[in-house]
Parts: sequence; structure tokens; C-alpha cells
Amino acid sequence: MKDIKFSKDHVEVVTPINRYQARMIVGSDGVNSVVARKSGIRTRWGSDISLCLETEVELDDALIAECVEAGTLEFYFRGPGMFPKRGRLSVGLGGPISQMRGSRKMFMSFVKAISLQKKINLTDRITRINSNLIPLGGVNRKIHDERVILTGDAAGFVDPFLAEGLYYAIKSGEIAAYIAALAVENNNFSREFLAGYVTKCDDAFGSDLKAARRFAKFAYGNIDRSLKILRSDKQMFLKYLETVRGDMTYADFNKWCVLRSPVTFLKLISG
Ligand SMILES: Cc1cc2nc3c(=O)[nH]c(=O)nc-3n(C[C@H](O)[C@H](O)[C@H](O)COP(=O)(O)OP(=O)(O)OC[C@H]3O[C@@H](n4cnc5c(N)ncnc54)[C@H](O)[C@@H]3O)c2cc1C
Repeated sequence: MKDIKFSKDHVEVVTPINRYQARMIVGSDGVNSVVARKSGIRTRWGSDISLCLETEVELDDALIAECVEAGTLEFYFRGPGMFPKRGRLSVGLGGPISQMRGSRKMFMSFVKAISLQKKINLTDRITRINSNLIPLGGVNRKIHDERVILTGDAAGFVDPFLAEGLYYAIKSGEIAAYIAALAVENNNFSREFLAGYVTKCDDAFGSDLKAARRFAKFAYGNIDRSLKILRSDKQMFLKYLETVRGDMTYADFNKWCVLRSPVTFLKLISG
């Protein structure tokens, strides 16, 4: 898709080989969404975006097993992480863009530290480092307009604690398809009608993304304290693991924490 033209009664999508007219468009084109830009919904991201550097290092499976146990993701509080794939080890580091100045140097320091810890030289095996922008969810953003809806990363639907967005991309895609079908049925592509998409997304996962944001703000803003609490309270640590695994919602986790230790964790809900 090279261009999109919005007019009063249709949308035209221009590709290198053709032009297509439709009554509306669903923008599922990721963080650098052309649909968001061309529709005027968003010309650029604000500060609510993170930068993630990531590389895949080719390694023998035996060496990978020495580095990270199979089926395990090593997640270091505040962004860096590492997980095994067949014949490759994926290493990444990310954080809010405002804190990622000198990110390449930061990334290489992390790889060096991991190399020393694992006693495997990962640094010399790096052939390429990819940088990706990942929006941080849990804030109200404009995600629709006349004849247009944004989903997934284009809409900024990403867990701001773990930077995971696959679930939200699929869920918002489902909701967008449902609302688009309703719009066709009613021949109504107005901003007001398509606002039903925003409401449905909010009902499905909006409050959880907001709870994740409050949790991320507390946890990343008080790293030492958070780690101390998780280390000293086994039950809370297990609940935390349930949450990052997706078996418990952030909203329920925050509530659970508040009930367990009201004074400390009032901060979780107040943000
Ligand atoms: C390194 C990294 C690791 C991640 N790991 C995880 C994880 O473990 N779990 C998790 O839940 N999330 C993870 N995420 C986040 C997750 O990948 C995204 O949230 C998710 O892929 C968003 O899906 P999407 O469909 O909205 O966007 P995307 O997956 O970005 O898909 C957008 C699609 O649109 C296409 N496109 C864009 N522009 C155009 C155009 N002009 N014309 C035609 N096509 C276009 C792109 O080629 C792409 O195929 C990770 C992200 C990164 C960067």
C-alpha cells in the first residue's frame, strides 16, 4: 500500500499495481501505520512509545541449552530479556524512548554482561541489531474517525509492562471486523457509528491495559522496592507470575496486592 485517499463517500487505497475503492478501511498496519497518518488520526507518536533493540544469535542447540533452559524466557526487570529458538538465541532490550539514549551501547553492555554470566561469547556472534518501536498501551488515544478504524500496534494496544501486543492485535482485529460488518449492514461509516469500536475495545481490554500501565509505573518507578517485595513474598511472586503469563488480569493482580498489603499497594491503584 503506497497511499490512501479519503473522500466524502469512499476510501481509495493505492498499491504499486492497482487502486481499490472501499467504503471504509481498517488500519492493521503496525506501529508506523500509514492509515493513521493518511487519515490524520495521528501524524506522530508522543512520548508514550518504547524502543526495543533485538538480535538473534546463531548458536548450537547444546550451547543454547547451556544459556537458557528450554521453554524458558529470561526476563530481567526493566526491559532486557532472552529466549531460545531452534538454532538461535533471541536477545532483546527495551524501554520508554525517553530513557533509551545511547541504546546501542546499552544493548552491547547487556550482551557483554550476559556473555560473561553464561560464559559464551555472544558479542562476537552478533551480525545485526534490529530496532523496533513499540507503543505503550493504557492511555486513551484517538483510534478511529470517519470511515477508518485502527487496530493492534497501529492503535497503540500493547501491554506497557511486558511490551506484548499479539493478543490485543488479534482481539481488536476481531472487534474491528464485527464493527465494520455492522457499518456495512447499516450503511453508516460515520465517526459516531464507528465509535462503537472504541467502546467495545474498552470493554474487552481497556481497563486491563490501564491497570498494566499503573502496575508498570509503580514497578519500573520503584525497581528495588518491587524486587524486594517480590523476593520476600512468595505468594505475591506466584500471583505476579500468573499475571505475566496471562492467567490473571493486571486489574485483578493490582486488587489482590491492595487487599494483601493495603498501604504499600494503594500506590498500585493510585498510579
Ligand atoms: C522484537 C519484538 C518482540 C516482540 N515479542 C512479543 C511477544 O513475545 N509477545 C507479544 O504478544 N508481542 C510481542 N511483540 C509485539 C507484537 O509483535 C506486536 O504487538 C504485534 O505484532 C502487533 O500486531 P499488528 O498486527 O498490530 O502489527 P504488525 O505485527 O506490525 O503487523 C503489521 C503488518 O502490516 C504490514 N504493513 C505495514 N505497512 C504497510 C503498508 N504500507 N502496506 C502494506 N502492508 C503494510 C506489515 O508488513 C505487517 O505485516 C514484540 C515486538 C517486537 C518488536
